[in-house]
Amino acid sequence: MIRIQGRPGAPGVAKGIAVVMQKKTTEYGRDRDSRSELQRFEDTLAICTKEMLTLQERLSETGEESEARIIKAYAMMLQDKTMTNPMKEAILGGKSAFEAVDAEVMAISDKLVAMDNAYMRERADDIRHVGSLLKNKLNGEEEIQLPQEPFVLVAEDLTPVDTLKLDRTYLAGLVTQMGGATSHTVILAKTMGIPAIIGIESVVEKILTGDNLLLDGSTGQIMIQPDDMALHIFEEQQWEAKKLQKKIKEKNLSIAATEDGYSIEVCCNIGSPEDMQLVKEKIYDGVGLFRTEFLYNAFQRYPTFDEQLKAYREVAAAAEGKPVIIRTLDIGGDKHLPYLELPKEENPFLGYRAVRISLSRREMFLEQLSAILAAGDNVRIMFPMITQVGELRDCKELLELAKERLREKGIPYNTSPKVGIMVETPACGIMTDRFAKLCDFMSIGTNDLTQYVTCADRNNPAVEELCTPYNPAMLRLLAQIANDCKKAGIPIGVCGELAGNMDYLPFLVGIGIDKLSVSPSSVDLVRFMVCSVKLSKMQMLARQVLELDDPREIKNILSQTWKDIIK
Ligand code: PEP
Ligand code: MG
Repeated sequence: MIRIQGRPGAPGVAKGIAVVMQKKTTEYGRDRDSRSELQRFEDTLAICTKEMLTLQERLSETGEESEARIIKAYAMMLQDKTMTNPMKEAILGGKSAFEAVDAEVMAISDKLVAMDNAYMRERADDIRHVGSLLKNKLNGEEEIQLPQEPFVLVAEDLTPVDTLKLDRTYLAGLVTQMGGATSHTVILAKTMGIPAIIGIESVVEKILTGDNLLLDGSTGQIMIQPDDMALHIFEEQQWEAKKLQKKIKEKNLSIAATEDGYSIEVCCNIGSPEDMQLVKEKIYDGVGLFRTEFLYNAFQRYPTFDEQLKAYREVAAAAEGKPVIIRTLDIGGDKHLPYLELPKEENPFLGYRAVRISLSRREMFLEQLSAILAAGDNVRIMFPMITQVGELRDCKELLELAKERLREKGIPYNTSPKVGIMVETPACGIMTDRFAKLCDFMSIGTNDLTQYVTCADRNNPAVEELCTPYNPAMLRLLAQIANDCKKAGIPIGVCGELAGNMDYLPFLVGIGIDKLSVSPSSVDLVRFMVCSVKLSKMQMLARQVLELDDPREIKNILSQTWKDIIK
């Protein structure tokens, strides 16, 4: 048995036969003169675009909307003249079509990679994927043979198209060398519930087609030709997972309340109206966070009032009266929006981001506020990255102005929507008692709050261990925020990843969090956890860990509750 270690992509364990996808990186075949080579390129471009549009249609028909959106973006890239014109010029200048695609894709992706921005680095993956589509087609693609039993697809770089074009009946897992944790291939694997591992150097040399593989997407570990012991552990893990699923199914989750009757709303985080299809399959209490930046990213310019209104209304209607919290644009940090033309910053997470941008681009902000106001009576508004009471006052002033404009135009709107803030900066967390006087609710953005409290970048593996919510400073701050909100009589939620962390949940329950908002795939688990504990016990546990200094000890004690539940 050989063990190899990669980086976690999508969680879950899988067992299957390796199918190694080797792509040809050198070209064969070209036309003699530039004109006919150009024609060959244009024909290939047209075929690839048509294939993408057909695949997009097929995915939409089968209800795979988020997959369809990725493929649509690829089709748009293939039609983007700023990418294809330099390729054509290079062909007319004497390069082969393959060389021209290779060189241009490399130039664009190098630029994106150099941008020092995780989001843009991963968009470089998309450009490379589109390039390999074209290059494969120019080389004459070969169909890969798939076994009629569970298999793990292994490739240096796997494009979402590679995965989506396959017959996925027996697809058990994905393993790649390239790609980041938020690359589209990984997002796709998560949506499909398929474990994935990324970042294995020379993976196509280490794993051979036909190898038996075991993989754990949560730890990034792969076992090639596993021995009996490894197979036994795998089977136990699978059995544990099934046992948990059975327990979840058997529990009444219609109301998320602790055993001693304390109700907690369990809501969903979404990034687009299409996500509501996943949400609606669940028992949920509302949308706790609609990240609007993905909507802005789908356009090459600011989305108009009508375009935004359509998206927000779709979500509000799909929620059927349940509350929907729409967060205003949170761009900056590691989230980029090319048409905003933001200046390059030394410390983007400490720079011009979120509400700071919105407040300085008033017309853009007013457009968004107006669309949110007109979307439905169940819609609430939330402002991100607040650090000063003055910012919140300015946001509320603009909200009044947006109402005035809607009134003048005769567009119906919600006259008194609930207004809240994300608590995701220490400045805001420390002062929640003051902010509480101006808000109807608050939601703690623990992803950002953890990195700002611990001074450790949430995307930098070198400081990953320091960026921990188990730092006692985080516990104390969270408890104080919850306490301030209780005193002020406003609900306090958590919408960062911590809300779906089974080890940490006992603490959040114990300090009196009223609302947890998590990805749709975690909502059942969180409801199950809430229904399986007693508030009084969790309060005692919270008091106990608040006295401790060592993050490891805190984690050990907190994680025991979940271990006991799933025993
Ligand atoms: C957070 O910071 O916890 C949060 C929910 O916002 P985002 O992850 O979008 O920054
Ligand atoms: Mg945040």
